[in-house]
Amino acid sequence: MNEEQRKQQAQIRSEEANIERIKNTSSEELIAKYFHAEYEPQAPDIKKARKRRKEDIQFHYDFSIPEDMQRIGEGKKFLIRTYGCQMNEHDTEVMAGILSEMGYESTNVTEEADIILLNTCAIRENAENKVFGEIGHLKPLKLEKPDLIIGVCGCMSQEESVVDRILKKHQHIDLIFGTHNIHRLPHLVKEALFGKEMIVEVWSKEGDIIENLPKVRKGKIKAWVNIMYGCDKFCTYCIVPMTRGKERSRRPQDIIQEVRHLVAQGYKEVTLLGQNVNAYGKDFEDIEYGLGDLMDDIHKIDIPRVRFTTSHPRDFDDRLIEVLAQGGNLLDHIHLPVQSGSSEILKKMNRKYTREEYLELVRKIREAMPNATLTTDIIVGFPNETEEQFEETMTLMEEVGFEAAYTYIYSPREGTPAARKKDDVPEEVKKQRLYRLNELVNKQSAESMKTYQGEVVKVLVEGESKKDPDVLAGYTERNKLVNFKGPKSVIGQIVEVEITDTKTWSLNGVMAENRVEVE
Ligand code: SAM
Ligand code: SF4
Repeated sequence: MNEEQRKQQAQIRSEEANIERIKNTSSEELIAKYFHAEYEPQAPDIKKARKRRKEDIQFHYDFSIPEDMQRIGEGKKFLIRTYGCQMNEHDTEVMAGILSEMGYESTNVTEEADIILLNTCAIRENAENKVFGEIGHLKPLKLEKPDLIIGVCGCMSQEESVVDRILKKHQHIDLIFGTHNIHRLPHLVKEALFGKEMIVEVWSKEGDIIENLPKVRKGKIKAWVNIMYGCDKFCTYCIVPMTRGKERSRRPQDIIQEVRHLVAQGYKEVTLLGQNVNAYGKDFEDIEYGLGDLMDDIHKIDIPRVRFTTSHPRDFDDRLIEVLAQGGNLLDHIHLPVQSGSSEILKKMNRKYTREEYLELVRKIREAMPNATLTTDIIVGFPNETEEQFEETMTLMEEVGFEAAYTYIYSPREGTPAARKKDDVPEEVKKQRLYRLNELVNKQSAESMKTYQGEVVKVLVEGESKKDPDVLAGYTERNKLVNFKGPKSVIGQIVEVEITDTKTWSLNGVMAENRVEVE
């Protein structure tokens, strides 16, 4: 056995001894020993979360990397694996920005990385299972490479049960931090590099907005822009209000400045992000300014495409509809999660609208924007959902004519009111309902695609198609994926494409000669 192998063996033995010791220690002792002072161990607590709305929101514009951390990553690499929604993808861009400013380079190769962060999602149980699977897979690598730092962040780290489980069963994790602690990454990395214990920093204080964080965006064509954080809607099935904190809006001038910078860098599309973007501005005490006003201001900026997600029907007001109806760079696609077609289920979900009110909103949107594409999110198998209530979802799907839908089987989340309900719907029935719903979603999507046959559509070309490098791919204004043959030089441009063939989820076409838009 050479020196290197001896070191590895010693490392493995000490790791195993550590794991054995952890196994024999009570969870309370572990919490006392490892949790950082700022951590308040608590299960998601809806009552506590509801009270937080009265706390003040503070804005910070003074983020900087401490001098002693500015070159600490030189010659080293990081990898961030992202699970879940656009919000997480954008948080990953921020963490990548921070790590890059610390000198780290990014890599896609797990074995090459010196820091691996798992940016997690807690929305459904299977999302969490995937992360625990990955945590397990990383253990041999950590044993092989003891200096590797593995961190768990994102929504799962806001849950006490998750932190507890990692502490007890996954001692090879070096770092756990919450969704409100991203700006602390330089300090956390430093502690993980120089300390011996697992670092856990999950703040329960959640009212602040940190501006001027660095970002390394994933592409150069489309960009995410956060307009607000958190959610105060408290749908009874949803963990987000507990993992993402209270609703708080960025100041309009900060958002507008960010969009202007993106234009200057050549971006062609921005998507304004929030868990419930229609509540934008409701927390301002000094100005009357909502999403409609923000969209109106962004409408005047010279960026070809502006999208926003996700909308909550309850807060979707007439001012917003009026502004969106102007068109231009405000696109004809609205993602409007309905969740269920049954007013009784909607009430149990605490969605705060009925089927009839939702349909009335759709009517108003269609009146103002006759060409708008509507898409949605639907949950099937909410506790005690009857066959008739499920059928109401099916009929609503048809009545609205949604062109696409993200569909989910209800997944109980600890700490949410719905998870405490007894549920008499067997899993098999839930699966059948999902299957039936998906058949309908596919049918409606395919039908909507057929209407494009022979049409000329404007496509923002994003790059080569994932399946065939000789084919280009991009999205229309109404968010339809188009694959077509064309020169690579049009990547990043908006071009006109004639649709020659339609599929369930995409369109095929040919680039209309001489019809490339002059921008
Ligand atoms: N804020 C958005 C809204 O109100 O529709 C969406 C947020 S959530 C990240 C995305 C979707 O996940 C929701 O629209 C809902 O359909 C689904 N979802 C949330 N909690 C769920 C749960 N416990 N089980 C199944 N699906 C869930
Ligand atoms: Fe969750 Fe969306 Fe409801 Fe907020 S509005 S609680 S994010 S489903």
